[in-house]
Amino acid sequence: MPDRTIPGSSGRIRRLRLLGDPALTAPCREVTAFDGELARLVEDLYATMYAAHGVGLAANQIGVPLRVFVYDCPDDEDRRHLGHLVNPRLVETDGPVIRGPEGCLSLPGIEAGTPRHDHTVVTGFDVTGEPRTVTGTGFFARCLQHECDHLDGGLYVDHLTGLRRRRALRAAARAPWAATAAPGR
Ligand SMILES: [Zn+2]
Repeated sequence: MPDRTIPGSSGRIRRLRLLGDPALTAPCREVTAFDGELARLVEDLYATMYAAHGVGLAANQIGVPLRVFVYDCPDDEDRRHLGHLVNPRLVETDGPVIRGPEGCLSLPGIEAGTPRHDHTVVTGFDVTGEPRTVTGTGFFARCLQHECDHLDGGLYVDHLTGLRRRRALRAAARAPWAATAAPGR
């Protein structure tokens, strides 16, 4: 029996959508039903995130166009933040802008110094429909901004400019997974 107290232990590992897949660039829809299907989606997101050794995962990264993400992410003080948000809304993004290393399970093996605000507040709901407010600083603030971007059809490389952007996109084009990233594969 899977231990249902561990997030993702009853979830299924789903195929990750990679750069070039249209699921990543279409904005996601609001969740309207807080039902068993949503609970299964959250479990699948945890299971897939852990299997891929990620710190966050948005639903459209497994091809589900709904506004849901999960995270298990440290901040700069090494505090662990574990949870999920449904219909998240970025209500505060402030503090100094820091360029720090950022990667994405949809561009595996690639990392680029990406500017992000140091402090973020996100409101939303948990899987049962209870309101939630999540505050992040440092690397966790980066993670929250990154996952909210996904739900709007964005990717962290959108925040890069110039040489950094060209380097990241060139590395993605040459990556071993690039040939398999096309939809339907
Ligand atoms: Zn990502």
